[in-house]
Amino acid sequence: MQIKRLRLTGFKSFVDPADLRIEPGLTGIVGPNGCGKSNLLEALRWVMGETSAKSMRGSGMEDVIFAGTATRPARDFAEVAIVAELPEQQDELEIIRRIERGAGSAYRINGRDVRAKDVSLAFADAATGAHSPALVSQGRIGAIIAAKPGDRRAMLEEAAGIAGLHVRRRDAEQKLRATETNLTRLDELIGEQE
Ligand code: ATP
Repeated sequence: MQIKRLRLTGFKSFVDPADLRIEPGLTGIVGPNGCGKSNLLEALRWVMGETSAKSMRGSGMEDVIFAGTATRPARDFAEVAIVAELPEQQDELEIIRRIERGAGSAYRINGRDVRAKDVSLAFADAATGAHSPALVSQGRIGAIIAAKPGDRRAMLEEAAGIAGLHVRRRDAEQKLRATETNLTRLDELIGEQE
């Protein structure tokens, strides 16, 4: 998957709409301390479905909404959009995540309301996602080196694009168990009728 554009509105320090074009190749973000470099990377993680407030450097999920400054009032919502191109597909994909105070997050893919799970599966199938090692933030290299074998395996699986298969397998196993329970119940009911 090639991410081509990143648009932010009201996300952390990006109170005004910002639209960034991401060119092919390695992208680095440079700038003075506190200018919002890490916030950009967090915006990418967030739109990919990040659910941990801690990894967004906040105590609650609404902390990603612009909290106001001495001169500007706080915002009521934050929105991040990415435009991406999938390999071997011509059509672009626009994925949007929006959070409103008191109303939680909502996701859209190409204008259609979807579940958080649909978004993370779309990224997992494209071998990327909120925890992709391709997004290198401060301290991340050290964390990868020090990771436990199980965690490192999860990173490799994510890079290979098979992480989504585990989620689908878990879902299928759950459905299977529910169906088995239904069948057992059906057998009991048939037994009672006989
Ligand atoms: P450094 O180089 O020091 O790591 P950086 O360029 O990565 O800095 P960030 O950490 O991305 O900068 O941005 C920090 C800035 O974002 C701080 O000024 C902080 O006040 C601001 N910020 C973070 N969350 C919010 C928020 N919800 N509302 C408004 N501003 C915010």
